[in-house]
Amino acid sequence: MSSSAVPVLSDVHTGIPENLLEKATAAKERLYSRKTAPPYYERDEQLPVLPPDVSRSTFNAAIAALEGILGSANVEVNDKPLVDGWYIEHPNTHDAYHVFSPGDSVSSAQCYPGSVEEVSAVVKWANKFEIPIYPISIGRNLGYGGAAPRVRGSVVVDLGRRMNKVLKVDGENYSCLVEPGVTYYKLYDEVKRSGFPMWIDTPDLGGGSVVGNAVDRGVGYTLYGDHFGNHCGMEVVLPNGEVIRTGMGALPGPDGTDNPTWQSFQYGYGPYADGIFSQSNFGIVTKMGFWLMPDTQHQTFMVTFPNDEDFADIVDIIRPLMIKRILGNIPQLRNVIQELAVTGRPKTDFYKGEGRVPREVIREHASKMPCGDCAWIFYGTVYGTKEQIADTLKIVNIEFSKIAGSKFLFPEDMPADHYIHSRVSVCSGVPEIRELDWLNWKPNAGHLFFAPISPTKKHDARVLYELVRDIHDEFGFDVFPTYCIANREMHFIANIVYDRDDEDEKARAMACMRKMIDVCAQHGYGEYRTHILLADQVAHTYGWNNQAMMRFNETLKDSLDPKGILAPGRAGIWPAKYRGKGWELLLGDDRATSNPADIKTVTELVSASHL
Ligand code: ADP
Repeated sequence: MSSSAVPVLSDVHTGIPENLLEKATAAKERLYSRKTAPPYYERDEQLPVLPPDVSRSTFNAAIAALEGILGSANVEVNDKPLVDGWYIEHPNTHDAYHVFSPGDSVSSAQCYPGSVEEVSAVVKWANKFEIPIYPISIGRNLGYGGAAPRVRGSVVVDLGRRMNKVLKVDGENYSCLVEPGVTYYKLYDEVKRSGFPMWIDTPDLGGGSVVGNAVDRGVGYTLYGDHFGNHCGMEVVLPNGEVIRTGMGALPGPDGTDNPTWQSFQYGYGPYADGIFSQSNFGIVTKMGFWLMPDTQHQTFMVTFPNDEDFADIVDIIRPLMIKRILGNIPQLRNVIQELAVTGRPKTDFYKGEGRVPREVIREHASKMPCGDCAWIFYGTVYGTKEQIADTLKIVNIEFSKIAGSKFLFPEDMPADHYIHSRVSVCSGVPEIRELDWLNWKPNAGHLFFAPISPTKKHDARVLYELVRDIHDEFGFDVFPTYCIANREMHFIANIVYDRDDEDEKARAMACMRKMIDVCAQHGYGEYRTHILLADQVAHTYGWNNQAMMRFNETLKDSLDPKGILAPGRAGIWPAKYRGKGWELLLGDDRATSNPADIKTVTELVSASHL
């Protein structure tokens, strides 16, 4: 593939900004140079795949009706070979990081509404034909299912293609209002262009949508790193097509304008509804407000710790620093193996044996790298005036120095291509593409995030780490632990990198995930977010009082969405129409498909539903 083919943001809403084009081109070349999987997957079944219980003639009539609503240019049937692409050129037809066969989690069609009225019309259309729809904003939720619908044959509602405007940047209120197709790359550009001294907050990679990431409760790394926590006001299309505005947006502004405090006060009056539209299938978010951080001086640093056993003490030092807000952002604690992986070099450059790279081998390579022979690395950033930064660094230095052999390093101490420079950007709200590099660890790499929450306490952190490490070992995967420390809790993100062209490795990756979800839940540690095909299992671990929470969610689902058209199965919430019919993928279910229609016998169906 030619490198000039990387699309840019000025041409397409999913593109890379010009200033990152060179890096993106190099990242793409590295990924494609190791690719052995075919460029596309032919499909040997009648296409498009149909939604459940919908005949081909009904489907064709429904698509004609949808073309009538949106125009035929804005409806595409999914009947071509599947192309996985890569981060910047990702598909909206299936999960690019497939965990079963590429043709498993697929849509029947994609459609592109251009306004809230059109989204509402699509929802009404779905109710009329009883066709499941699956909203995406950009569809780059890679590692969690990407653009793939949970129910095979759903119609993907790709909101981003035609609804991708930054509607408002308010330099007095330090806030913005965006449509679903606005990526962090785009918001960054627009805020910069506005000239106001404000930052955005971005995750490690900037190509996701600001809305999709917040509704899936993703995190970034500045003081505004809790994306859902820093949103203010939503506009939502309900599963019956009705449009609501939350918070102060429910109170009309004068003369039909938006309420002047929509992006100032989160709660409005009455029950705080916003939460039920995150990690759910209760509505489609068409506008969302966010607070923006005032521009400030900042200083990123790294601290290396020599021994594996230092981990518990590091966590106990971090906790009070976070709770007292001496460290106010979301810093990261990473294992030294990531220093090897973020070089973008393949695993085989470091180790050619089977299974995990042994500790001694990591040690030997790390000792030749800028981080030196260490076990853990803390990447922190402090903010404020020069004096405040100096004072804070003094305290942080005193605390971490309690661990013998720890070393404090600054960006200027490291070579120009070291990862710390990417942390400097991300921790000051500048979106990046560097984090993609560890995908070169394996050829044809896909990844699955295992993301449990642990208290920021020595005992829990150690127990969780050891469980995850041992289960990775059992299934033959390197463990890449990153702790994103929010305050009293840590998002433990362990990334399983697998070869998408290796069926055995994919099966092991899923088995490893299933076991980690189960074993960690037995110790009280639950995922904050998960892949669409693991949502049932994760949701069931939150089963206190005989699945009371799930019954509550199902009550909401059935009343808001009686025909069960909106993203059935997302977050493990199934509408009545689907419940107990073999869709739930629970522990012990080793189906290599998400589709109960592929299970051949009634006995298999009953046992697969685990009811
Ligand atoms: P991103 O590209 O930002 O990573 P996606 O578009 O892949 O995000 O969406 C992430 C998840 O959030 C998906 O499961 C998707 O169904 C859901 N989602 C995304 N956008 C919306 C939206 N506007 N309304 C409701 N749910 C959404």
